Amino acid sequence: QPFDQREGVIWFDGAFVPWADAKVHVLTHALHYASAVFEGERAYGGRIFKMREHNQRLIDSARLLDFEIPYSVEEIDRACEETLARQGFVDAYVRPIAWRGSEMMGVAAQNNTIHLAIAVWQWPSYFDPAQRLKGIRLDMAQWRRPDPKTAPSKAKATGLYMICTMSKHAAERRGYADALMLDWRGQVAECTGANIFFVKDGKLHTPTPDCFLDGITRRTVIDLARKRGVEVVERAILPEELAGFEQCFICGTAAEVTPVSEIAEHRFVVGELTQALMNDYQAVVQPAEAAVAAA
Ligand code: PMP
Repeated sequence: QPFDQREGVIWFDGAFVPWADAKVHVLTHALHYASAVFEGERAYGGRIFKMREHNQRLIDSARLLDFEIPYSVEEIDRACEETLARQGFVDAYVRPIAWRGSEMMGVAAQNNTIHLAIAVWQWPSYFDPAQRLKGIRLDMAQWRRPDPKTAPSKAKATGLYMICTMSKHAAERRGYADALMLDWRGQVAECTGANIFFVKDGKLHTPTPDCFLDGITRRTVIDLARKRGVEVVERAILPEELAGFEQCFICGTAAEVTPVSEIAEHRFVVGELTQALMNDYQAVVQPAEAAVAAA
């Protein structure tokens, strides 16, 4: 089913509209100049995991792009929950997006209306489930994450995904599931929609998120690892080090925790720590019994 012809409703500037009617004009500033920010959230058993953190990041991303979303974080939370309920799903993906509208066309659009829409759909697994268990294969991307002086790298801004789509398409054409992107300095950064971790000698290693998204899943995984007593090292990781790592996985709201079996010529096993963290993550995203009973 194409994404513009699905069933149900979309929350659009404060009201529910039929899914197929949630449209914007072709002369929308965001379409021409990438003045849009978004979130990706997941509901498990009717509860959106870390919803407040996601919706606060949405507001913060907009501020980094110099615009203010005309709703409070509480209002956005409530709108996400209502949209989820209206769609009637308990396990679903939640996509809020905010953008500059169409009153003025040109680079400057100081007074254009800021819009907010929220769509909810079922997105069971970002990667092929069979592939997920044995680990996905990553290509090396030809594009690098930009210097934070070149782009608002902390914002979940649509413009930053241009290099992600190009990198992922190139990887898929070569038979890979996704691509590992280096940063502007040539250090390991992240995948096109997920953060990356490595395991060596029982420790987790992950790049310091100084020029890419410090994912909410990434922070969750770090907490889960530390609760297990596993040391987590955030540092600069060079591509030359890939040969020395034993395990690798990526993580994000859509990808959850997904093991990686290959990055270009390097091979990894889906080891015990990766499996333990996959299970820990599934356990922590599920609402507590009490929350389910009360709902
Ligand atoms: N990096 C990129 C480029 C992403 O698109 C995502 C998904 N939002 C992530 C990392 C992971 O972020 P999170 O865990 O907050 O979903």
